[in-house]
Amino acid sequence: MAEQRRDAEHERIWAELVATARRTVTDGLVVGTSGNVSARVGDLVLVTPSGVPYDRLTPDDLTGVDLTGRQVLGTLVPTSELPMHLAVYRTTDARAIVHTHAVHATAVSTLVPELPLVHYMAAALGGPVRVAPYAAYGTDELAAHMLRALADRSGCLLQNHGTITYGTTLDQAYDRTAQLEWMCRLWLTASSVPGRTPSLLTPAQLAEVGERLRGYGQRR
Ligand code: 13P
Ligand code: ZN
Repeated sequence: MAEQRRDAEHERIWAELVATARRTVTDGLVVGTSGNVSARVGDLVLVTPSGVPYDRLTPDDLTGVDLTGRQVLGTLVPTSELPMHLAVYRTTDARAIVHTHAVHATAVSTLVPELPLVHYMAAALGGPVRVAPYAAYGTDELAAHMLRALADRSGCLLQNHGTITYGTTLDQAYDRTAQLEWMCRLWLTASSVPGRTPSLLTPAQLAEVGERLRGYGQRR
């Protein structure tokens, strides 16, 4: 354990990772020690330790595993959701992952197999967001269900559990979680009006936005 040397890059990313994990609590996306965050640096994956309140994490608590899950940095036990995090890093270009128990997203995960297309921001996650069938937390079975739900997407819901999103930076992974939670809240709000059913976008309308979003924001 802990045989690899930590360097300045690891310390910088660890600080960002801890700040992101703290944000999931302050923004109300998780309660207590629920959820977890990771970031990939080369073949190393920095992860939040299991069951430790994020406001207690210090630079000394830096925790890292290799892509097989073997601990190579730190002494705290890594997140119980290593199977999900490692499955994403092994199969995608992800550099960061955020897992939460955001309340509206988790509510939606109990109601439908896919989040209805109520808003164009689904395009920012690659298309209609699927719900991975339930399996116990921390299991390889949950990771397998999640991988199927993530095909061509950068996020999915986990049935009766929460959300998982990834990105090329911690900020991007976090923002995708926040957008996903917001869309779930939107659908729950619109679909709770008695006697009315929300209008939905078509796949063609979503594809058009997918194109437009490539040019969204400031020119680099
Ligand atoms: P950890 O504290 O082990 O990361 O677990 C939290 C969680 O959300 C499990 O699904
Ligand atoms: Zn969880």
